Amino acid sequence: MKKIAVFTSGGDAPGMNAAVRAVVRKSVFHGLSVFGIKRGFQGLINKEIVPMQLGSVADSIHRGGTILLTARSPEFLTAEGQAKAITFLREQQIEGLVVIGGDGSFRGAQVLHEAGILTVGVPATIDNDIAFTDFCIGFDTAVNTVSDAINKLRDTATSHERIYVIEVMGRNSGLIALHAGLAGGAESIIVPEAPFDLTEVCNRLQRGVDRGKLHSIILVAEGAGSALHIGEEIKRIMQLEIRVTILGHLQRGGTPTAFDRILASRLAAKAVDLLLEGKSGLMTGFYKGEVAATPFTEVFKKQKEFSWDDYKLAAILAI
Ligand code: ATP
Repeated sequence: MKKIAVFTSGGDAPGMNAAVRAVVRKSVFHGLSVFGIKRGFQGLINKEIVPMQLGSVADSIHRGGTILLTARSPEFLTAEGQAKAITFLREQQIEGLVVIGGDGSFRGAQVLHEAGILTVGVPATIDNDIAFTDFCIGFDTAVNTVSDAINKLRDTATSHERIYVIEVMGRNSGLIALHAGLAGGAESIIVPEAPFDLTEVCNRLQRGVDRGKLHSIILVAEGAGSALHIGEEIKRIMQLEIRVTILGHLQRGGTPTAFDRILASRLAAKAVDLLLEGKSGLMTGFYKGEVAATPFTEVFKKQKEFSWDDYKLAAILAI
């Protein structure tokens, strides 16, 4: 193994730069030549390759986003697009590849693995919706961003005695809502994993009102429904003033937390180790307290477990 490449793909996540940095520095440490591909799979098709040296990743560990840029590539979903990408990697004599991204990116990585290119994935998505890793890079930062927003909205909710319904990201996963709700003391957390009853949400609010509490935070994971709609319904049922805030893409940005930087450094360094051992078709992860590696095929089969204990605890603590 002499020459490897790295790229980021799919939605960006804070900590991706720390992962790129770790791939580059670990590769240089082992005497490998390392290259960056711009814009994910589309960059393979468009032949966007740049040599990476130690200095290429300087001053990046604390920055959100990705210095290699990221993209979604419909062209790579076609056989022609995949053939172009594979031909390019062969022409460039790239022997190993690190793909930093989410589930979709690993499906693309599996295509390259099956074509005989040693390929390892590093999980980075704020949604944290990938099995065989307790945490994906970016999740912790997003949870901190949301809990910071809750703190701020709670100030105004308290001052004006209002109910705030806050919509957070996570696609089909409620984990950002759950963790940020626990950290921010949300009165109700609505997630796609658990059926919810708006009457129960309103009863809970009413119990708060009855004991003199006139402000509340209701967190809605985007996969569970629209905060605007839920806010309208609560307003109709309870005749109380409701404000709705959709946090949106600010959850994808920002300085990565120390946790995400350390996670990224560990998982990306492990990816380089696996390539050096000649391994391929694997995703690194932090699983059950240890750095681990799991075949993509296993990752695709398993759904991320939802933290039911935390969900119940959040309800108890918001009693
Ligand atoms: P995020 O979870 O943040 O959205 P992701 O990696 O899941 O990240 P996707 O948009 O699903 O993001 O995938 C990124 C890219 O991976 C796609 O644009 C496509 O080029 C490639 N890809 C996705 N699914 C497949 C597939 N089944 N086969 C080949 N390539 C795929």
